[in-house]
Amino acid sequence: MEKSFLDKKFSDIEYNLKTINEEIAEAAVRSGRQPGDIDFMAVTKTVDEIYINHAIDCGIKLIGENKVQELLRKKPELRLDGVKKNLIGHLQSNKASQIVGEVDMIESVDSLKIAREIGKQSVKKGIVTDVLIEINIGREESKTGFMPEEAEEKICEIAEIEGIKVRGLMTIPPICEKSTKLCKFFENIYNIYVDIGAKKLDNIYMQILSMGMSGDYTEAILCGSNHVRIGSKIFGPRIY
Ligand SMILES: *Cc1c(COP(=O)(O)O)cnc(C)c1O
Repeated sequence: MEKSFLDKKFSDIEYNLKTINEEIAEAAVRSGRQPGDIDFMAVTKTVDEIYINHAIDCGIKLIGENKVQELLRKKPELRLDGVKKNLIGHLQSNKASQIVGEVDMIESVDSLKIAREIGKQSVKKGIVTDVLIEINIGREESKTGFMPEEAEEKICEIAEIEGIKVRGLMTIPPICEKSTKLCKFFENIYNIYVDIGAKKLDNIYMQILSMGMSGDYTEAILCGSNHVRIGSKIFGPRIY
């Protein structure tokens, strides 16, 4: 790659991070919180290590990858001192043994089966894995995750699994043309998050509500998100 192209991409990333940080801070304050209350995750799927390291140099403290193989391949090349890395994509049972112990959190627990497998592998390694429960808030067939009405029951079952600590919820809402409609989905999951948290159930710590991506992180924060996952707005469009 040509040097000038690289320079442009580096400065774009720096500029994008600055802009997003400002918008996150503003949305946090507008929703009665502090800028530091919101986790800003850089979603790094398909992004080269050189750019991920640049984002880390610019202050990113949390990265997210979708695929086990990609995460494990990139990890040795990343400057991860003080940086957390979470898995945010659907996890297959046969890959659980590879990922448990390699990430700080698995945000995409979307079935009892995968929760049990994560628990089993964690116990084997003598660790406890932090997880978020993925909710299919739009009840879409194309998406995985628990239906909103079964969330509480399933979360209680998952919380009983040894080797797992439930830290909150994650969702990807349907594509909405109107932000009022989008906010309804965000508000629904926020209510589930608050209701379950208020019950102070065993081994369920409703501390993280992971929602908001490049196109909707401001709305998500205004609706109660404290953990946004942003990819293309930092790194540009993904090339698969
Ligand atoms: C890719 C991805 C994101 C980031 O998407 P952008 O629209 O590029 O910000 C967030 N969450 C999940 C689960 C993803 O797969």
